[in-house]
Amino acid sequence: MLTDELQTLARRAEDAIQNTKSVKELDDLSIELLGRKGALTTALRGLASVSAEERPKIGALANEIKQKLETRIAVQRSQLAELGMAERLQQEREDVTEPGTLPVHGHLHLMTQAMNEITDIFARAGFTRMRFPEVEWDWYAFEALNMPKDHPARDDWETFFMEAPEHEQSGKMILTPHTTSGTARLLEAQELPIRVINIAKTYRRQIDMTHTPMFHQFDGVYVDRGVTVANLLGILDYFVKEFFGHDRKTRIRPYHFRFTEPSFEVDISCGVCAGTGFIGKDKCRTCKRGWLELGGAGMVHPNVLKAAKLDPKVYSAALFGFGVERTYMMKEGLTLGDIRLLYKNDVRFLEQF
Ligand SMILES: [Zn+2]
Repeated sequence: MLTDELQTLARRAEDAIQNTKSVKELDDLSIELLGRKGALTTALRGLASVSAEERPKIGALANEIKQKLETRIAVQRSQLAELGMAERLQQEREDVTEPGTLPVHGHLHLMTQAMNEITDIFARAGFTRMRFPEVEWDWYAFEALNMPKDHPARDDWETFFMEAPEHEQSGKMILTPHTTSGTARLLEAQELPIRVINIAKTYRRQIDMTHTPMFHQFDGVYVDRGVTVANLLGILDYFVKEFFGHDRKTRIRPYHFRFTEPSFEVDISCGVCAGTGFIGKDKCRTCKRGWLELGGAGMVHPNVLKAAKLDPKVYSAALFGFGVERTYMMKEGLTLGDIRLLYKNDVRFLEQF
């Protein structure tokens, strides 16, 4: 009954070949079936017990089965190879119409954006932006601004001093604590009339939630014959309306600065409560009674004009100075718990602006 055994083996083998899923699986099966210790070889061991006249018939059948299986295996192999290739192509296919990954687009820092906007607004009013040294002589930062040596008012500017030799007339070398040092240089240059906006980095020895040792200010100065407080108010009102919106109002309150006389604090009407100080029946949390403090302003002190060798009886000058960070945050209605966020370079914060 070896014949039956061989036929059964052949049928099972054919099914098994058909069911292989990979070339590797087929290779293993091929060894199992046709190898030296394979199923067919094992079955043919029974040939010894078969009669001599049956033997050639069974031998021929075994040969036939072997060839048949070899053919089947070859066909299956080429089919599997083809399938594997198609599958790989599918996996590795590149869709050229698929949108690519764009490199991240950066943008200007919010303070740079603010400074550009401020520059543009004043340019439309005939102001030229000029730059002055950040490393400055004591003379321009203080003395020329009516703050003689050892004057207590200097304490308000927590100044960084450079390790550098003193100048005989100009004194110590410092990091300028306010943009008004540029104004002192400008007055000295005396190319009148002057309409200049100076936006720059300033430095003070202070760092906490509301202060950074480096921050930005802008000083605007208008010098000519017959400049009055009315001109100053006109400029301030123009800037406030352009920067904050045309519904915003400006007011000034008397104040004291060493380098201006009269001096003012400049307020703008609150954008949150429209200057009323109330939202419904509740007090507005953004402002003080409808107003927000913007910065300082005034008419340049006669002593400052004299220090620049300008005759205060002939010339007068309107001056104002604001912090860029503060002004920008007021515009955006931004209350930063920690102002140092502006300079921490945290992209999650910066990309919101
Ligand atoms: Zn308000």
